[in-house]
Amino acid sequence: IKISKSYKLASRDFHPDDTVIEIKGVKIGGDELVVMGGPCAVESPEQIDEIARLVKAAGGQILRGGAFKPRTGPYSFQGIGVEGLIMMAEAGRKHGLLTITEVMTPEYVDICAEYADILQVGTRNMQNFDLLRKLGTIKTPVLLKRGFSATYDEFLNAAEYILAGGNPNVILCERGIRTFEPYTRNTLDLAAIPSLKTLSHLPIISDPSHGTGRRELVEPMAKASVAAGADGLIIEMHTDPDNSMTGDGVQSLFPDQFAALLKDLEKLAPIV
Ligand code: PEP
Ligand code: MN
Repeated sequence: IKISKSYKLASRDFHPDDTVIEIKGVKIGGDELVVMGGPCAVESPEQIDEIARLVKAAGGQILRGGAFKPRTGPYSFQGIGVEGLIMMAEAGRKHGLLTITEVMTPEYVDICAEYADILQVGTRNMQNFDLLRKLGTIKTPVLLKRGFSATYDEFLNAAEYILAGGNPNVILCERGIRTFEPYTRNTLDLAAIPSLKTLSHLPIISDPSHGTGRRELVEPMAKASVAAGADGLIIEMHTDPDNSMTGDGVQSLFPDQFAALLKDLEKLAPIV
């Protein structure tokens, strides 16, 4: 089937070679597998410091953690804000990890970019065009999550907004889509990985945590993602998932599970 494409800069037709984004020596989109690990939300300096230590010890390269959380309900915990950015930057620096955090509004882009190495656009904001346009004006790498009801074409057009603004550093992320199946929180679309690799030159990361919503499914879907060609993974891990401040404890790995998964993944692809 011939799909007419409205995006250009994101297309492989335009840019045949794989894009490799290098951040302080860590390459995303090359031959090595990149692992981003950490809690759903930054909760305290002690929490993020301990999790950073465990991510590093397991061989991960990037610390994830939300300071601004896009919650479905307005009464749910919304994240600790700028203080969380500061705590995560400190933990990343201390343990030698890059950091990634979600930014939800154009006004917060500059401050998030000051503290984090990669900015995450969440699934609910994939078509927040003002946010995408603002992210196009900086050079900080952006991990763009696929909207949970977005087609590949809509996803790549969202990437195009950032690229067209002048920021070439876009990383795609498949994080699961909404289907009729309630057993899993989302349905991780594994075919998106090789499909997007065909359509686009941009690196692609898989999120088996939000993609399944169930801890026991993270390991098999992480491995399947790597087998399908993912350049890396973003995985929730928590030292005390049952008491985490967002509902995402149920999908968060325990530290020993995270470490065991990275050990296994090394057999599939080098984690450098
Ligand atoms: C997250 O990474 O914690 C998150 C909120 O992700 P998503 O936007 O994919 O739901
Ligand atoms: Mn989460």
